[in-house]
Amino acid sequence: MPICIFCGAEIHDGDPFCKNCGAPVLKEGETIEPITIEVPEGAEITIGDGPEMTHDEARWVREKQK
Ligand SMILES: [Zn+2]
Repeated sequence: MPICIFCGAEIHDGDPFCKNCGAPVLKEGETIEPITIEVPEGAEITIGDGPEMTHDEARWVREKQK
């Protein structure tokens, strides 16, 4: 019995969607690529809602870029 990769609920054979969370069921061999965000070196990074970083966020970004 396959299980939903999103919520872990059991999925009955032939069901196109998870009955528990409604996620589409992947066919055998299908995968979902993990989402990665690429940040070019030197690019400005905005964290949070506003365009201005707090002091701690700016420091965190600087340390990430080392
Ligand atoms: Zn599910």
